[in-house]
Amino acid sequence: MERRLLSGDEAVAAAAMDGGVHLGTGYPGTPSTEILEAFSALGGRAQWAPNEKVALEVGLGAAFAGARAVVTMKHVGLNVAADPLFTAAYTGVSGALVVVAADDPGMASSQNEQDSRRYAIAAGLPMLEPADSQEAYELALAALELSQRWQLPVLLRMTTRVCHSKSIVTRQSAVAPAPVPRFARDVASRVMIPAYARPAHRRLRKKLESLEAWGETAPLAIWREGSKALGVIANGVTARHVREAAPEASLLELKLVHPLPLEKIRAFAASVERCVVIEEGDPVIADAVRAAGIPVEGKAPSFRFGELDVPRVRRILARDLSPEPEAPKGKPPQLCEACPYHPVYSTLKKLGCIVAGDIGCYTLGVLPPYEGMDTCVAMGASLGVGLGLRHVLPEEDARKVVSIIGDSTFVHTGLNGLVEMVYNPPPTGHVLVVLDNGTTAMTGQQEHPGTGRTLDHEPTAKLSIEGLARALGVANVDVVDPIADPAGFERLLAGRLSRPQLSVIVARRPCILAAADIRKYEKAAAAAGCAACPEVENV
Ligand code: SF4
Repeated sequence: MERRLLSGDEAVAAAAMDGGVHLGTGYPGTPSTEILEAFSALGGRAQWAPNEKVALEVGLGAAFAGARAVVTMKHVGLNVAADPLFTAAYTGVSGALVVVAADDPGMASSQNEQDSRRYAIAAGLPMLEPADSQEAYELALAALELSQRWQLPVLLRMTTRVCHSKSIVTRQSAVAPAPVPRFARDVASRVMIPAYARPAHRRLRKKLESLEAWGETAPLAIWREGSKALGVIANGVTARHVREAAPEASLLELKLVHPLPLEKIRAFAASVERCVVIEEGDPVIADAVRAAGIPVEGKAPSFRFGELDVPRVRRILARDLSPEPEAPKGKPPQLCEACPYHPVYSTLKKLGCIVAGDIGCYTLGVLPPYEGMDTCVAMGASLGVGLGLRHVLPEEDARKVVSIIGDSTFVHTGLNGLVEMVYNPPPTGHVLVVLDNGTTAMTGQQEHPGTGRTLDHEPTAKLSIEGLARALGVANVDVVDPIADPAGFERLLAGRLSRPQLSVIVARRPCILAAADIRKYEKAAAAAGCAACPEVENV
C-alpha cells in the first residue's frame, strides 16, 4: 500500500485515479482548484470547462454513458451548476458522478460563506464529508461506489481546511477496474418532460429512503465511546477539533451528512446526559435532528460566522458567549506591482467612472489607492448590474457606468451578459472593458477557452473575445494594450463613454506572473506548427 503526504484535494485526485474515473471536469475556484490539476498530473483525463454548469453537464453526459466522472467547483460554483444538478437527481446516472463542492467557511477567498449541505437537502442527493486527507481519499472512493450503486449523483463536500492541509494518505493497492462506457437508450429516465419527471421524482425519493436505511448501519457514522456526561455530534474537520477540545467526550462523527442516520443519532443522544451538535456553518444537522424530536443542543448563533477551531469548540461546549479575541489584522491582498490593471484603474478613477465589477484579481482594484469598483456580486454579474445602473440613472451619471470583467470570467458567465447588452441596450449605450490577461490569474493561472490551451497547456481552438463581440453586433470593438499605451486607452475610454452606443474594449496584456509561461507555451505550440498558433499572438 502506498503512503503519501497529500492535501485533501490531492487525495480526491488520487481516489479519482484509483476509482477508475474516466473524466474530471470543473472550473477553477479556491479551494477546489488543485483537484483536477493533481488528477491530470497523475495521468487522469482532466479538463477545465467554461463554467460549473457546463462542467456538470459534461460530467453527467459521461455518466449517462456508463463512465465514472468527477466534477469539481467551489461552493459558489455550485450555484451556477444548480440548474442541471437538481434535474440530474431525477435522471440519475448509469455510471458514477461525483460532484465535489469546496466550501470556504470564513471566506478566505470568496464572496460569501454559503453552506453546500443545503444543496444536498434541496436537490435530494446524498452528501459525504471528509475530515482529513485520508477520509477525502476514502470518501471520494465511497462516493463513486454509492453513485454507481444508487445510480445517483453524489455530492462530496470539502472545506478549505480539508482541501489545503496535508496528512498521510494510504492508497488502496488494488484498483477497481473502470466499467467500459456504453450508451443504453432510456428516454423515460433521461428526458425530463413532465410526464417522465413526475415518476422520476418518486424514484428519487425511494432511492433516498433506501439510502437512509442503509446509512443507519453503514460505516459512515463513527461512534466513539467516551464520557456519559457529554456527547458531541460533529461532521468534517469539526469532528477533529472536538477530539482535541474535549477528548473525554463521547463523539458521533458523521461522514454521510445527507441523508442523516437519525436512528443512530437518536441512540447516541439517548446514551449521554448532554448532547451537543457542533458543526461549521449553518445549523443543518442540529435543525434536522431537533425536527426529528431528538433533544440536542446547538451552537450559539455567533459561531455561525467563520471557521471553527479548537478554542472556538471549547467555547461552544463551555457556553462561553464572551467576546472572542480579535484575529490579528493581516495585510490585505493587493494588485501586483507590475499588474496590467494599474493603468486601467487609474484611468477609471481619473474619468470618474461608476464601475460595475466582477470576480477576479481585478476585484482588488476596489482597495486604495484606486477604490475603483462600485459593485461586485457574482461571476459575470458586472454586465447585468452595469446595464441595470445605465437603465435607471440620470443620463449624466448613466454615461459614467463601465462594466469590467476578466477574460476567464467573461467566458464563464459574462457572455450571457453581453447578449443582454445587445438585446436590451440602455439609451446611453454601455461600455464593457474586458481585462484580458491571458489566464485565470486569481486561482493560480489556469487555462480557459480564451487562452487557446487545455488544462495541461496543450494548444486547442481559441475563443476570440473581440470576434464574439463583433458577431453579436456591438457597434464599437477595440483591442488595446493598457501598459504599452495608457494615454491611448484613456482617450479611447473617454471617447466611448461619450457615445450613446455599445462598446467593448478588450484591454489585453498578459498577467505579469503568467507571462513567462505563456511565452513558453506559445513557443512550444509554434514549434509543433499547430493550427491554433496564429491566434496565440493575440495573448
Ligand atoms: S496575479 Fe497577475 S492579474 Fe493578478 S494582480 Fe498579479 S499581475 Fe495582476
